[in-house]
Amino acid sequence: MSGQNLLPEAFSHIYVENRAFGYEMTEKILSSFGKSTIVRISHYKDVFNRPGQDPYLQNKSKNLIIAVNDGNRFFEGSPVCQDFGFDRFYYAESAMNCPFSCDYCFLKGMYHTANVVVFVNSDDYLEECDRMLKDGPLYLCASFDTDLAALSGICEWKKIWERYASVREDLTLELRTKACVNEFVAKDNVIYAFTLSPEEIIRRFERNTPSLDSRIRCINKALESGATVRLCFDPMIYIKDYELCYNEFVDKILEKIDITEIKDFGIGTFRISSDYLSSLRAACPGSAAVLFPFDREDGFCVYPKDLRTKMTGIIENRLKKAGCGERVFVMS
Ligand code: SF4
Repeated sequence: MSGQNLLPEAFSHIYVENRAFGYEMTEKILSSFGKSTIVRISHYKDVFNRPGQDPYLQNKSKNLIIAVNDGNRFFEGSPVCQDFGFDRFYYAESAMNCPFSCDYCFLKGMYHTANVVVFVNSDDYLEECDRMLKDGPLYLCASFDTDLAALSGICEWKKIWERYASVREDLTLELRTKACVNEFVAKDNVIYAFTLSPEEIIRRFERNTPSLDSRIRCINKALESGATVRLCFDPMIYIKDYELCYNEFVDKILEKIDITEIKDFGIGTFRISSDYLSSLRAACPGSAAVLFPFDREDGFCVYPKDLRTKMTGIIENRLKKAGCGERVFVMS
């Protein structure tokens, strides 16, 4: 038995709120997971917020929770997230948690579980978004507490938001992802925001995510299809030889991607609410990504200011030299 993986496959169990049965999205998810054990529950929080969970172990074999969100569905963007110059910046919580498992992910600090929740009452979200749009243009990150593109084999949220935004010019939609997908909507107000890191950072800290080469191929496919593309170098992660590592990385990006076609660029270093750091460290024991002796500033754990400036400067200066200065947004 030694050496065998005794953990069940991912999504071996699907917990479904009683009230979530009958929704089209629920039925589609369940039909594509025919072998999973379905467990009826009264409320997703009974499973998602259950005390005593071990996210470290759960990360190796995540389960899925299907629920109806009758609480808050939209939240104002956090001050440590880039608003790319928009006044009304919100994010939608259409799912919680992510199929990937980056060591530095704030979700590991925020949630005490690795299981993924998908909310299925999409019409309620869209109606609420319509009401919000009546008050003026909106910048909405739809893939914030999750990675909707990575979940696109499981639920239809990516398509739902794409279709919705395609016919609403007042809405600027951002779909942020580390996943590689093939389908894009070519609209100015639907932004595919690809998070990029050096291959060394991906291998060490971005577990289960596609390689840098795969992400670059996906970005080029998106550009070929006429999609609006944002590149996010965020979060940059400190490692001992970060200068060499990130310089070689920018060389590769500049060589492989036609950056004149990119809408804009976001750059930032790792940061997390001080309240979340201990949970994050417990979820990734020993990971160098989260063991740094962070400074505390305004309730957030951050790298020291000098280091942040040096790190972001590596990418910022190269992009400025390449003539992209006006399209570069740095979270310092
Ligand atoms: S891809 Fe993003 S949301 Fe998913 S685990 Fe990594 S950092 Fe978190």
